[in-house]
Amino acid sequence: MAEPLRAVKGMNDIFAPASGHWEWLEAKVRELMARYAYRNVRTPIVEPTALFVRGLGEVTDIVEKEMYSFEDRLNGEQLTLRPEATAGVVRAVQEHNQLYDGPKRLYYLGPMFRHERPQRGRYRQFHQVGAEALGFAGPDVDAELIALAADLWAELGLSGITLELNSLGQPNERLAHRQALIAYLEQHLDRLDEDARRRLYSNPLRVLDTKNPDLQALVEAAPKLIDYLGAASLAHFEALRALLDAQGITYRLNPRLVRGLDYYNLSVFEFVTDTLGAQGTVCAGGRYDGLLEQIGGKAAPAVGWALGMERILELLKVQGKLPPLPVPDCYAVVPQPEAMAQVLALLRPLRAAGLAVQMHGAGPEGLSSMKAQFKKADASGARYALVFGAAELAAGQVAVKPLRADATGSIQEQTLLPLAEVGQWAARLRA
Ligand code: ATP
Ligand code: MG
Repeated sequence: MAEPLRAVKGMNDIFAPASGHWEWLEAKVRELMARYAYRNVRTPIVEPTALFVRGLGEVTDIVEKEMYSFEDRLNGEQLTLRPEATAGVVRAVQEHNQLYDGPKRLYYLGPMFRHERPQRGRYRQFHQVGAEALGFAGPDVDAELIALAADLWAELGLSGITLELNSLGQPNERLAHRQALIAYLEQHLDRLDEDARRRLYSNPLRVLDTKNPDLQALVEAAPKLIDYLGAASLAHFEALRALLDAQGITYRLNPRLVRGLDYYNLSVFEFVTDTLGAQGTVCAGGRYDGLLEQIGGKAAPAVGWALGMERILELLKVQGKLPPLPVPDCYAVVPQPEAMAQVLALLRPLRAAGLAVQMHGAGPEGLSSMKAQFKKADASGARYALVFGAAELAAGQVAVKPLRADATGSIQEQTLLPLAEVGQWAARLRA
C-alpha cells in the first residue's frame, strides 16, 4: 500500500460536530454584520506578492518570514496565498472604483495562510472574519467598528475580553518618536536580542511589540509614542474615547500597542483575553488611512479589524458557550429494500416542509436489521423514527415512533399515520 497522504502541517480538517460550530459562528457573524449594514466582500485567496510587500511593509513578520509565496509555473508571476485580507480588499475596492459613490462598509470571512510555528491558537491555515470601513475619516466609524466587535462577543455569550486601545498618530509624529526610540535603544544595545537589533533602524516601533520576556522591562521604559502626537491626532483619539464611553464600552489604554503591520495610523486596538495562553489576542485592528495610496490608488481614509475564528471557537469552548447542534427531526427506518423507491419519494415533501430527515441508507451488505436501524435512529438524536415497514406501506400508513421523552418525562407510544396526512403532520411538527 502507498504511504498515506496527510494534510499540510498546521492546516486542519474540520468535521462535525466542530464544523457545525463553525457554521453557527459564521451565521452569527453574518446576522450581526447585516444589523450594522456591513456588506459581504469576496476577494481571491491568491494575490500578487507585491500587494503584500507594498501594503504590509517589508520589515514585518508576515512579509519577512510568514508568506506562502510561489511562482506561477505558466507565466512566472509572483503570487502569494493571502496572509490577511485587508490589502486584498483595498486592492479590489480601488480596482473596481468602489468609492465612486461614497464610503463603503464591508466584511469578509475566510482562510488566511501564514508559515508560523503551529501551536494552540496558531495555525498555518487559519480563518478570519474582518470588517473594513473605507472612505470614513472617523472617529465615529472607529467607534462603530469597536462596538460591532463588542456586540459580537455579547451575542456569542463570551466574557472576559478586554479592549486595549492606543493611537499611533500620523507618520511625521511617528518619525519624531522613532528618532527618540532609536536613540534610547542604542543606549541599551547590549540588552537587545537579535530580532530587536535587526529592526533597530528598519522598524524600531516593532521592537516595542516584542514577545521576548527578557526585553519587557526595557520596552516598558522606552519613549512613548503618545507623547509625540500633535493636536489633531490627540483630538481624534480623545473623540474616539468619548464615543466609546458614550456607548458604555470600557477599554484599557496600552501605549505599547503598535500592531504588527506598517499600514496603521491613529486608532489601533486589540481585544485580548487571558484564558487562551500565549495566543490571547482574538481580534485586532485600527485605522489605515495611508494604505490606499500606498498600494497605488487614490488616497482615502479607512479603518478595520480582523478576528481569528479558531481563537474565538477555542474561547467559546473554554467558556462552555458552544451551542448544542441541530439534530434531525426524523430518522427514516426502511426494513425492506423493495420499499426504498416509495420511501425516497415520500421523504422529499417532508424536507420541503422544513423537516430535517435522515434516511437509513444501505451499506455494502445492503440494509441492516431493524434493530441496527433503530440504534442508528436513536444515535442520530432524532425526535421520531418513521418506520416504513411493508405492512404499514401496504395499508397506506407509516409508523411514527417517538424516540425522546416529552415534557412529562415519558416516551410516547408509536402511532400510525396515513401517508396522505404526513404533510400536515410535518407542518404541525414545524410549528
Ligand atoms: P499574533 O500577534 O498573535 O501573531 P497578529 O498581530 O499577527 O497576531 P493579525 O494579523 O492582527 O494578527 O490578525 C488578526 C487576528 O487573527 C489575530 O488577533 C488572531 O486572532 C488571528 N490570527 C493571526 N494569526 C493567526 C494564526 N497563525 N493562527 C490563528 N489565528 C491567527
Ligand atoms: Mg502574527
